[in-house]
Amino acid sequence: MIELSNIVKRYHQQEVLRGVNLSVADGEVCVLLGPSGGGKSTLLRTINGLETFDSGSIRVGDITLGASPGPERNAALSQIRRRVGMVFQQFNLFPHRSVLENVIEAPVHVLGQSRDEAIENARRLLNRVGMGDKESARPGSLSGGQQQRVAIARTLAMNPEAILFDEPTSALDPRTTSEVMGVMTDLAASGQRMIVVTHAMSFARSVAHQVHILHAGQIAESGPPDQIFSDPRTEVTRAFLADVGD
Ligand code: ADP
Ligand code: MG
Repeated sequence: MIELSNIVKRYHQQEVLRGVNLSVADGEVCVLLGPSGGGKSTLLRTINGLETFDSGSIRVGDITLGASPGPERNAALSQIRRRVGMVFQQFNLFPHRSVLENVIEAPVHVLGQSRDEAIENARRLLNRVGMGDKESARPGSLSGGQQQRVAIARTLAMNPEAILFDEPTSALDPRTTSEVMGVMTDLAASGQRMIVVTHAMSFARSVAHQVHILHAGQIAESGPPDQIFSDPRTEVTRAFLADVGD
């Protein structure tokens, strides 16, 4: 279980998360939607410690991350980072290393896997994302969609309990978007727990178990996609859906 309780986050005086509660069960795919500036990225980033928060707590399994800085928080954070992976819009692959080297880096250096074991695992994962024939390529020679699939394999190589995706296809053209969405749909079908911020409404509709609308730092509405899309219950959700043309 991942559980966010009453998360408040301020930048200077501005409250960008205003008491967010969210829980994501094992094997659940949760999609976060909402207008730009609503706090979606900030929320994801608090979960794996890329941002601090001012109050509230985050629980990942038996680990609890509080807001107060200190050794306890640092210890919780390093455990959460091992359990929760993140995939960004901008891929963030090491440009001077091959695809294979990118995927084995963290398993070798963070998990302490042997190089041989990490390579075997990486090859399996690259095949899974349809990139098995590109292990020697440099990221710069690949399309954006291919780079994103490598980034997903790199995240999977840490065997995460959950993966956070922050607009993973918004830098991609429609064809490569569908390749990446295909990989994400397969992951979802295999029971991978994920929290996905996306503009891809078709993914939200067909793959999500729960959809949450985050607006102005608060969850305006949560529900299964059927309900959210066909029977939105808040004005915020109706306005958002009208805006994205759904
Ligand atoms: P979303 O991902 O939903 O578009 P963000 O989480 O990026 O929203 O941003 C939420 C709010 O926080 C916005 O008002 C944004 O301007 C503000 N914000 C985000 N990052 C920072 C930062 N590093 N410093 C100050 N304000 C920020
Ligand atoms: Mg964002």
